[in-house]
Amino acid sequence: MISTKAYAAMSPSTPLVPWTLERRQPGTYDVQIEILFCGVCHSDLHTAKNEWNGSIYPVVPGHEIVGKVLAVGEGVLKYQTGDLVGVGCMVDSCQHCDSCKEGLEQYCEEGSTATYNSKLRDNSGISYGGYSGMITVREDFVLRIPDNLPLEGVAPLLCAGITTYSPLRHWKAGKGMKVGVVGLGGLGHMAVKLAVAMGCEVTLISRSPSKEADMKQLGGHHFILSTDHNQMKKAKNNFDLILDTVSAIHDYNDYLHLVKRDGTMVCLGGPPTGPGIESFNLIGKRRSLAGSLIGGIAETQEMLDFCAAHQIVSEVEVIDMDYINEAYTRMLKGDVRYRFVIDMASLEK
Ligand code: NAP
Ligand code: ZN
Repeated sequence: MISTKAYAAMSPSTPLVPWTLERRQPGTYDVQIEILFCGVCHSDLHTAKNEWNGSIYPVVPGHEIVGKVLAVGEGVLKYQTGDLVGVGCMVDSCQHCDSCKEGLEQYCEEGSTATYNSKLRDNSGISYGGYSGMITVREDFVLRIPDNLPLEGVAPLLCAGITTYSPLRHWKAGKGMKVGVVGLGGLGHMAVKLAVAMGCEVTLISRSPSKEADMKQLGGHHFILSTDHNQMKKAKNNFDLILDTVSAIHDYNDYLHLVKRDGTMVCLGGPPTGPGIESFNLIGKRRSLAGSLIGGIAETQEMLDFCAAHQIVSEVEVIDMDYINEAYTRMLKGDVRYRFVIDMASLEK
């Protein structure tokens, strides 16, 4: 085993603190990675605070990992020492069920292994995430990082990027499609950038008036203030596709009204209480309500390559590791433009 410094939540109600954890030595098909940057996702906060019930302490969050290969097992074919690589929200899955065979490892019938807070498949313990100096990951779950993009801006693509790219692709986002994005946070700002790059007509639906100007800078087209009843009423039956990225409990019906006949609203945000939908809100316009979980490994690579081709990265505020608790407080207030990313070199300070 190899010791590595980390930051962990020891309980739902206490701040994250320095901790040391043990990583396995790279096995035959493993890649050992020095973590350079790790994005801060709202899921990290939900899990650290046990908002989804099921957190196993200590929790070491972090699933937007970019780093450099330190060593590889003798069976590893795709990577070598010194390569820039990424790790997203999964580190393992069964690889033989129908979902895995279709490249949809996130929906593995046996349950995929999340990068943190997941039981390892060999029962050797719990997975620990990217708020740490180093990680050992099976080659099949390691991504190649394009070399033409700033690394700190790439890290959030590994979760916020793929989580918004995958439903856009699945629901065939393309030229002229009217896409609404609810909430401009980590996921929301990536949704705006990606949908714009795919040729969609993009509207941000936000409770924050100050985000209208930001949305325009990100390339978005229209803005609806969700707290303004008249604006919401005027936008009824308007969108082909809505991506709801809100992290807090909210009324999904308010947004479903904005979907046009035969359109779809996709739940991406994971507030502790889910959608309570009025049935006629679906029936009346043959609307669909759907969900979507991150994206498969092949699609994540496709998304990274798409971002490289379109020069798309996340807007980030780089922080030191010991700023994480303040970062969580600010994220809860919506005070981040638009993703905190931890510079892992700061672990050694
Ligand atoms: P974030 O950066 O904190 O952004 C969330 C946004 O939601 C905020 O910026 C805010 O946007 C809006 N919001 C917050 N509270 C609200 C409220 N009370 N009412 C209305 N809007 C509110 O979070 P994130 O990292 O993007 O994550 C968003 C959610 O997606 C989290 O629940 C996370 O766990 C989940 N997630 C899901 C997946 C998946 O696979 N489906 C993957 C990753 C994350 P405005 O100020 O613009 O309104
Ligand atoms: Zn995430």
